[in-house]
Amino acid sequence: MLNLLFEIQRNREIIKRTREALKGESNNNFIRRVKKEFEEKKSKYKLVDSKLNEVEKNIEQLEKKLEDMKREVMQEESKLYGNLKYDLKFISTLEKSIELKKGEIRTLEEDSLNRLYDEENLLKERDMLRKELVDIKNEFYKNKKVSSDKIIKSKMEIKKAEDSILNCEKKVPKKLLDKFNELCELKGTGAAKLSNGVCSGCKMKVSAITIDDIKNNKDIVYCDNCGRIIYYSGHDE
Ligand SMILES: [Zn+2]
Repeated sequence: MLNLLFEIQRNREIIKRTREALKGESNNNFIRRVKKEFEEKKSKYKLVDSKLNEVEKNIEQLEKKLEDMKREVMQEESKLYGNLKYDLKFISTLEKSIELKKGEIRTLEEDSLNRLYDEENLLKERDMLRKELVDIKNEFYKNKKVSSDKIIKSKMEIKKAEDSILNCEKKVPKKLLDKFNELCELKGTGAAKLSNGVCSGCKMKVSAITIDDIKNNKDIVYCDNCGRIIYYSGHDE
């Protein structure tokens, strides 16, 4: 009969432990940390993306400016070589203008090249961030799956322990069960094993009187130190 009480105690302990683990799982720190990391990386990605858009727009403008400038130079050059009726002063002004514009073109081309390098670097950075985001997302879902599997398993364990307790309780006489539950509420456990005269609940040696009570087959015997049930005769059944 005491074995049934031990079984109840053991299953109650399992339920308590599993519920604590469940609580820990439901506010899983890992998931929270990964979520934060993902948000941070995402805003970084957006920043790089908008920088990239800006650079691309900039390149477009530079290219357009370059085209215009080149066209102007071509026009001026065709004026210079195609028509000989201009005077020397006009020719010299035209030449200077062409020279100036060619200088500007060189500067613009250099700018454009630098922007292209920027673009390339930003593209690389954006790709890297995108890959990192995908990795974090995958890790997140993997962990979430593991976590939900753990929760399902824990709930099943709790159910199993609850069923086992109900099953045991049915077999224990009401008087004994009530006494046991009363003690459980007070001390956490209500029954203890006695080995070589030592109570497993309080680790103390029980008195000679208590040993006598057991020998005399008394109905319920309690540890005289902690009060836990250490013997049940089964008289009343
Ligand atoms: Zn005891």
